Amino acid sequence: MSMVTLAEIEAAIRNVPDFPKPGILFKDITPVLADGRLFSGAMDHLLAGVARADVDKVVGIDARGFIFAAAAAARLGCGFVPVRKKGKLPWQTHEESYDLEYGSATVAIHVDAVKPGERVLLLDDLLATGGTAAATVSLLHKLGAELVGIRFLIELAFLDGRRRLGTAPVRSMVTY
Ligand code: AMP
Repeated sequence: MSMVTLAEIEAAIRNVPDFPKPGILFKDITPVLADGRLFSGAMDHLLAGVARADVDKVVGIDARGFIFAAAAAARLGCGFVPVRKKGKLPWQTHEESYDLEYGSATVAIHVDAVKPGERVLLLDDLLATGGTAAATVSLLHKLGAELVGIRFLIELAFLDGRRRLGTAPVRSMVTY
């Protein structure tokens, strides 16, 4: 199979106007997922330069982040940890509230999901205002994680969400 280019991934992302609310241009990544070559190529780009030896846990954010973080963890051979919307995790949690591009929410993580000092790679599908990722970074700091990187498929750079994410290196594949 030939190398998947970022231009091919960008071309497969579907723009859906006014979803889930008027004025939001929703970036739909399901066409990337539905194409095996593009999905695998997207994972190659997402994990470029990341070695198994650098990461203990891959953390994914509810819900589309799970898709990429779980695939990444399986590829690297390290653990996967979900950060979920409030009320979904069954065990003891830490919680953090934040504002989103549309609405507000609270994210939660199991208190024992990451051990102090474990090296974490944080993945999500899309960086918009950065509220979701910043809340997740706070949760990871509460657990004493060492955040080695934060990566997104898509970054809405005009919203400047990355300024809220602290000092860990932030990378995204497709930027608008
Ligand atoms: P934010 O907290 O503003 O950075 O929002 C990021 C979260 O909301 C991500 O988990 C995305 O899945 C979702 N999201 C925000 N804006 C969009 C958009 N325009 N298209 C698709 N997903 C979005």
